[in-house]
Amino acid sequence: MNLGAKMNNISENIKHFKSLLPENVLLIAVSKTQPIEAIKEAYQAGQRNFGENKVQEMLSKHEQLKHLDINWHLIGHLQTNKVKYIVPFVKLIHSVDSLKLLQEINKQSLKLNKITECLLQFHIAEEDTKFGLDYDEAVQILNSEEYKAMQNVRICGVMGMATFTEDMERVRREFKSLKLIFDSLKENFFKNNSDFKEVSMGMSGDWQIAVEEGSTMIRIGTSIFGERNYNT
Ligand SMILES: *Cc1c(COP(=O)(O)O)cnc(C)c1O
Repeated sequence: MNLGAKMNNISENIKHFKSLLPENVLLIAVSKTQPIEAIKEAYQAGQRNFGENKVQEMLSKHEQLKHLDINWHLIGHLQTNKVKYIVPFVKLIHSVDSLKLLQEINKQSLKLNKITECLLQFHIAEEDTKFGLDYDEAVQILNSEEYKAMQNVRICGVMGMATFTEDMERVRREFKSLKLIFDSLKENFFKNNSDFKEVSMGMSGDWQIAVEEGSTMIRIGTSIFGERNYNT
């Protein structure tokens, strides 16, 4: 394998994305399964925001790259018992999907006297995944006394994943539905709250549509780092 050429591609890809994206859209480089060297290469190209979907992997990479000013985004499902490992350093948790999880993030953040920024993850895809709220569940959380008492979490917006399909009209409909959820929550719960501003949607295969539909954060893995190899 020609490592030199591959490394070069990463920085080329980062620069390419930065040149295409509107200023208000943040590029999150999804580095899951990728080696430390790949992250360093992206960092050298100016990339500061990285996404991981597994706590253990994010922890290990954070340890190895502590000296760099990287913002770590947790984009995968988070179990309550793992919250304590990431709260000390995580920039943004994209995957809050229950009151119980939010309570644990609040509890661990309180211990460290910090505020942890979170997004509510919504289930917008047709696919039958276990994760993600629907609108009514989110309303229940936001209306609960437990949530209202929380001092150490800050909800900054919403996150969602579209169906994995060639049908781009479906993908667009799903992104529109997430933007509608965002608008409605903004109106009803976060009206004068400037922190509630993020719509995390769009991956390698659908980010252009996501940006057209109001994304403020795109999460790109394959188009930056190449195909993932889950065997190594
Ligand atoms: C893996 C992953 C991505 C990136 O996917 P690509 O298609 O490789 O860009 C984005 N978001 C989440 C939640 C992921 O798990």
